[in-house]
Amino acid sequence: MIFADLGLSDKLIQAVTDSGYTTPTPIQAQAIPPVLMMRDLIGIAQTGTGKTASFVLPMIDILAEGRSRARMPRSLILEPTRELAAQVAENFEKYGKYHKLSMALLIGGVSMGDQVKALEKGVDVLIATPGRLMDLYDRGNILLTGCNLLVIDEADRMLDMGFIPDIETICTRLPAQRQTLLFSATMPPPIKKLADKFLTNPKSIEV
Ligand code: AMP
Repeated sequence: MIFADLGLSDKLIQAVTDSGYTTPTPIQAQAIPPVLMMRDLIGIAQTGTGKTASFVLPMIDILAEGRSRARMPRSLILEPTRELAAQVAENFEKYGKYHKLSMALLIGGVSMGDQVKALEKGVDVLIATPGRLMDLYDRGNILLTGCNLLVIDEADRMLDMGFIPDIETICTRLPAQRQTLLFSATMPPPIKKLADKFLTNPKSIEV
């Protein structure tokens, strides 16, 4: 199996090749085709399996068409920690270098002013921790009605950190017609319940 077998665009495959990767990892091989076909997905995978690229790569191709509008991000990735959010942003920069996607990182410990400015310009990809996203939403700086692609990453860590109520609130503010991807290392009952409530006919993958 090579990356070209997965249905990704040539310029994305070029960026992957530039990164030195030739063979997709098992989670990438299994997740990328259904995500490109706009299916919901549950990915049971640990960090270190190449999980990040399994959603970042198809998202870049999905978002390549279309334009963002002020305060209306087109996609949202929720991460439990600032560090993980920053890593996902780095992946978007690395793999998206031949695309012109705009991105904003909404994490605590960084001035809100710059984040608000980034949102005003319009973003294709919003990467956020739930707390900071809720703060900016409540201040009226974000509209989630145009956001039809959602990734809930590290769901079991979100649970440990008490973020599930925030995630439920965020999910209800997104359009009902959307694509949702959920990744978790384990599937404890509250995560299963979250997936049952907010994903539609998901494809399940376990690596
Ligand atoms: P992740 O599980 O997303 O945290 O990725 C773990 C590590 O694997 C990161 O350092 C990635 O850069 C690397 N990686 C991602 N995809 C591949 C691949 N197809 N081949 C080799 N390494 C990869």
